[in-house]
Amino acid sequence: MDPLLTAAIVIAAPPTLVTLGYAGLCWVAPFKTCKRCAGTGQTTTRILRRPRACRRCDRGTRLRTGRRVFNYFHRLRTGAGR
Ligand SMILES: [Zn+2]
Repeated sequence: MDPLLTAAIVIAAPPTLVTLGYAGLCWVAPFKTCKRCAGTGQTTTRILRRPRACRRCDRGTRLRTGRRVFNYFHRLRTGAGR
């Protein structure tokens, strides 16, 4: 086997696997638990520690970044046909 081809495969395989794995993850589980409120959907204010609705997420879950990028391009493509 060609050593250059082997080197190219060895160099290119891990990033490809990571990318495909993340794409699969975004497809299987597009939502992820919010880090700010730890999935509760509420944060406490600094003064008096009153509960407030979390501004970063919707009820404790938020869309993954990869899925948000996919949705952006999907909307661009569907919007281009009109
Ligand atoms: Zn949150």
